[in-house]
Amino acid sequence: MYKAFLIKYAEIGIKGKNRYVFENALRDQIKKALEEVEGTFNVTKEQGRIYIEVLSDYDYDETIDRLTKIFGITAICPVVLIEDTEWDSLTAGVENYVRKVYGDKAFTFKIEAKRGDKNYPLTSPQICIEMGAHIVDKFPNMTVDIHNPEVRITVEVRNKGYVYSENIPGANGMPVGTNGKAMLLLSGGIDSPVAGYMIAKRGVKLDAVYFNAPPYTSERAKQKVIDLAKQVAKYSGKIDLHIVNFTDIQMYIYEKCPHEELTIIMRRYMMKIAEYLAGKNVCQSLVTGESIGQVASQTMQSLVCTNAVCTLPVFRPLIGFDKQEIIDISQKIGTFETSILPYEDCCTIFVAKHPVTKPILSMIEKSELKLAEDIDRLMEEAINSVETIVID
Ligand code: ATP
Ligand code: MG
Repeated sequence: MYKAFLIKYAEIGIKGKNRYVFENALRDQIKKALEEVEGTFNVTKEQGRIYIEVLSDYDYDETIDRLTKIFGITAICPVVLIEDTEWDSLTAGVENYVRKVYGDKAFTFKIEAKRGDKNYPLTSPQICIEMGAHIVDKFPNMTVDIHNPEVRITVEVRNKGYVYSENIPGANGMPVGTNGKAMLLLSGGIDSPVAGYMIAKRGVKLDAVYFNAPPYTSERAKQKVIDLAKQVAKYSGKIDLHIVNFTDIQMYIYEKCPHEELTIIMRRYMMKIAEYLAGKNVCQSLVTGESIGQVASQTMQSLVCTNAVCTLPVFRPLIGFDKQEIIDISQKIGTFETSILPYEDCCTIFVAKHPVTKPILSMIEKSELKLAEDIDRLMEEAINSVETIVID
């Protein structure tokens, strides 16, 4: 029954001169997302809004599912078209619309009219009054409240009639690609996919890096990370996933350094490599799924030590979140079920029984001196053997 959608956006409306950049990014993302949906769509930008016209048969649920994952959209309004705007057919069309969408429900409403066709015989206020009276007459359970209505029914008269009243909540945020690019450290856990989602929501394009430790970690663990990246990409768009073979570096640290410092030193080398890959791939920041105090490597002192190796900003969008809050988001975005699959991660394999919880930077740096002989070569080898998978 819906042959068009009106796309509402808020935050991008306040960007002054840059507004068109945001609107174009949003329009292009909508176009791209709808390419994957069965059906033919025409997406246009006009007068501070985006319209989607449906030109063929299509799958409504799939269309809404795709649109609700696009950052920058605050609401999606399904629109019914009325071919003939002559008054009797316009009222009949609106009446039909109300019957189909609301049946005989009781609620307060208000008609809002917009006239694109200035020669139309009725003015906008007249359309509101006459249409409101017609609807009240046909639907005795509905009452007019012009100040605080439960439902606003918009009737637009242009070359056709357009009627809409439903607002399906969008993903909010800003269109991806309008706020730079970040390198996400993506593990197979619950947290990092959520961190990626949250940063992408602010309009940031993502690359991702995964540190793999074969044969200690299985092919299935790698596949799990690919699957997580695919799910995040439904929101963020294309992700270049860089897979680093971290085994030799891990083994070397294991061999040379105190075991209770293993995790923290390992994390520092991950950050160094991630920063290198960020530079190479034009990313302006790093993103992790860390949250203060969640595990030994995420105490304040540990975060200080991890951070010390980076010059790029490291964004940790989950820093103040409790685990349950993170789980709630991961369930909402569809990564939870994959995240909890029980495959070994490179961090869990070499983990010490009693890791330091209050590492001191100077001591960690001193321990790392023991790696002097081979670490540069191992880092270079790891970087040179990166496998990049394009997730789209
Ligand atoms: P997650 O649930 O995301 O795995 P975690 O609670 O297990 O996080 P850690 O293992 O301490 O926490 O890792 C902290 C962060 O470091 C992760 O959120 C992720 O950003 C990054 N990280 C950890 N392991 C890897 C890895 N193997 N590859 C890429 N990034 C990683
Ligand atoms: Mg982890």
